[in-house]
Amino acid sequence: ITAQQQMGGGISSAAQVNSYGNTMQQVGGELNSAAQVNNNVNSAQQENAVKDGKSKVKYNGSHPELAARLQKEILDTNPGVKWDDVAGLSEAKRILQETVVLPLLMPEYFQGIRRPWRGVLMFGPPGTGKTLLAKAVATECGTTFMNISCSSLCGKWYGESERLTRCLFELARAHAPTIIFIDEIDSLCSTRGSATEHETSRRLKSELLVQIDGLNNSNSTSGKMVTLLAATNFPGNIDEALRRRLEKRIYIPLPDFENRKELIRINLKSIELAPGVDIEQVAQKTEGYSGDDLTNICRDASFNGMRRKIAGKPIDEIKNIMKSEMLKIPVTMEDFLEAVDKIKPTVSSGDIQRHEKWYSEFGSS
Ligand code: ADP
Repeated sequence: ITAQQQMGGGISSAAQVNSYGNTMQQVGGELNSAAQVNNNVNSAQQENAVKDGKSKVKYNGSHPELAARLQKEILDTNPGVKWDDVAGLSEAKRILQETVVLPLLMPEYFQGIRRPWRGVLMFGPPGTGKTLLAKAVATECGTTFMNISCSSLCGKWYGESERLTRCLFELARAHAPTIIFIDEIDSLCSTRGSATEHETSRRLKSELLVQIDGLNNSNSTSGKMVTLLAATNFPGNIDEALRRRLEKRIYIPLPDFENRKELIRINLKSIELAPGVDIEQVAQKTEGYSGDDLTNICRDASFNGMRRKIAGKPIDEIKNIMKSEMLKIPVTMEDFLEAVDKIKPTVSSGDIQRHEKWYSEFGSS
């Protein structure tokens, strides 16, 4: 998860997503259409959102100025990621379907002993698709999506972090059904930094725990679902209090051979390939690479044709090369082999062991 991705959070409304006509895709089982989720969305909210493409939900919570700031900071975007854009991870998709998607589709079933999980944690090495999955869930369910990093919740003034956290959940309720996605949630538990930083994060965490505890109550009384999805590359840094509330813990591993093939194919959807490109061979050579590493390989390989074409040419000559000519240059097997050679895997075997150990102790299946 890059710093840029962390900062670029987003909130997008259910009706906005649904107005694009997305339908729920099947995730290894029978699923209904996103339209069903609409039944749970306040119709006035939907109307407004469809009219101007932006959600105009009335916010009656505390500290409206902080809520406005939060809403502005976490940009108004449609995640626009489909299930099919996420390669592999069928087990993770299945668990997300049961823990997040179905409770949003049929809240009346998920009552009492079947109450939804308070929070769902996705953990695993960086670049394996955790953020992508969160966006796919929100897009395909047609819910509001609030994508926030812990740094957006850290206020400058005494007490501001707690107020921001409270506002986040109040905003989420106003826009419900909502998925709140908190990236790098482990950073809340960090004990590093100055004494004041530590104190701020301790208070922020306490408020977050209170808000997570309150999620169930609001779900059962108003029928409006707010679901917490969190992600981390350092599950071991999450302390017990927070871990207990993140009741479902889904391991997002590195892609295996089949998933690497799928991932490469997804990446090359719109790219011209030369005869002789052997995706199986690329997948074989990239054991230990993350989804992000593989995407980088495909990008790098796809630039090679252009590099060959312009090599040694002055800029004036390059300007005259037709765009269509450039687009037609196919990516060759040599381009892939060169890229694999150049780009090294970013995840170490120590990282994998650390995740697998945590999974065997605390993970859900
Ligand atoms: P994480 O949140 O686990 O660090 P991201 O979801 O941000 O990783 O993934 C980073 C990028 O890597 C994505 O934008 C995508 O290009 C690629 N990627 C990673 N995993 C997958 C996957 N399973 N399917 C498709 N693309 C993936």
